[in-house]
Amino acid sequence: MNRDNDLLRIRELLQRRRRDILHASQGAQRELSALKDQDRDPEYEENAQAELADYTLSSLMEAQRREVMLIDAALRRMDTGVFGVCVDCGFDIPIERLEALPFAIRCEEDATRHELDMRGGHHQAVPTL
Ligand SMILES: [Zn+2]
Repeated sequence: MNRDNDLLRIRELLQRRRRDILHASQGAQRELSALKDQDRDPEYEENAQAELADYTLSSLMEAQRREVMLIDAALRRMDTGVFGVCVDCGFDIPIERLEALPFAIRCEEDATRHELDMRGGHHQAVPTL
């Protein structure tokens, strides 16, 4: 029941996950450059397949890049000691929530409220004159 130990465990999980992603991302990068170096077969079908593989790899790498950014942001919050503290109410986010959602910056209640606000914001985009 020691929060510091729990946070440390989450930090290690994030760091391991970051390493795994970077490793996988290097593999994807290699595959992608191999695809680009390849002489394109004049056969249309093969080109389409290469393009699909290219697209799949690119979006995979985009997702990996985004996750690394989230992990970096979480690690930065850990370094500055604000990780696990709700940005809205300032209370500790329960460790169970952080274990399920290590990138969470809000407690469940505020996250729900924030989501509703965001959705409400869309409605306000329509002028109400
Ligand atoms: Zn909160």
